[in-house]
Amino acid sequence: MAVDTVFGKIVSGEIPVEILAETARVIAFPDINPQAPVHILVIPKTTAYENVVELAAAEPETLAEMVAVAKRLADERANGEFRLIFNNGATAGQTVFHVHAHVLAGDLEERSLGDA
Ligand code: 5GP
Repeated sequence: MAVDTVFGKIVSGEIPVEILAETARVIAFPDINPQAPVHILVIPKTTAYENVVELAAAEPETLAEMVAVAKRLADERANGEFRLIFNNGATAGQTVFHVHAHVLAGDLEERSLGDA
């Protein structure tokens, strides 16, 4: 259960953001600290899931909707290609425990995970 996160406050409207896309189950808004020309966060409106593993197990259709929204945003704001990142756990870099997808697009560094 993802209680009392900043993203919960964004879903409830307590913290205003620029909504870039919205569906019945999902919203998308710009990351406050962008790491790429296009850096958008896609999150489910439900606060029930801390991470993508929990979401995938309980509501795979919501996860599929997040991916579809990511693709639509990449089509609208870049060339349709994008990197989709879910940080899963604190040691993997997760800082907000309300499941979210980072959509990175635009002129990304030509570095793949294999180069790390
Ligand atoms: P994580 O590190 O958990 O995968 O990603 C959390 C992301 O949320 C970070 O990239 C951070 O910049 C972003 N973020 C944190 N607080 C806010 C906020 O209040 N508004 C927005 N738009 N993004 C936020």
